[in-house]
Amino acid sequence: MVVKIEQIKETGLTLDEPVGLPLLTEVLEGAAPGTDTGFQATGPSTLHATFRKVSGGVLLEGKLTAHVKAPCKRCLAEVTLDLPVSFLLNLVPESLARGDDFNDDDESSMEKKERGQGESGGSFELESADQQVFDGKTIDLDPIVREQVLLALPMNAVCREDCQGLCAQCGQNLNEKKCGCETKVVDPRLAPLKNIKLN
Ligand SMILES: [Zn+2]
Ligand SMILES: [Zn+2]
Repeated sequence: MVVKIEQIKETGLTLDEPVGLPLLTEVLEGAAPGTDTGFQATGPSTLHATFRKVSGGVLLEGKLTAHVKAPCKRCLAEVTLDLPVSFLLNLVPESLARGDDFNDDDESSMEKKERGQGESGGSFELESADQQVFDGKTIDLDPIVREQVLLALPMNAVCREDCQGLCAQCGQNLNEKKCGCETKVVDPRLAPLKNIKLN
């Protein structure tokens, strides 16, 4: 999924790009060891993308729904989610970005930049967009989709907010029924103290 800068006319460019299951699977399960997110993609998706040329760069607005599943962190039941992913990126050509870095060394320009937030009369949208550098010629959507899907993932998947989880002793799913095990809740932070007493 690569968009050439020439494809973006003055009126902008709107695209619906298929995001295949293999890409989503790679994002969620990770190519490298230890990068598995615990989520699995359950189907392909479509990226709705709008490109607009803005002051030297490109403003990219993207939306997709990632269909994912994961085991509930507490009871291990399967949780399916239609995860909304939306982002606004200000894609800045490398050449321009290098110029910005140079200016950042200048204290007065830094100050001006900070004060300028929200009062410049410029595009609020542009200021609220995350900045990302590209080569100035082509925009590769795959790494953008990859990053944005990862950012949108919840920290933990739970089947429901008040999920009771599994009994630590017998493994009973406490959402289904109580097991009658003695429930001694030991604060993990106090557990070492308990051991000291036993010694
Ligand atoms: Zn659960
Ligand atoms: Zn139990």
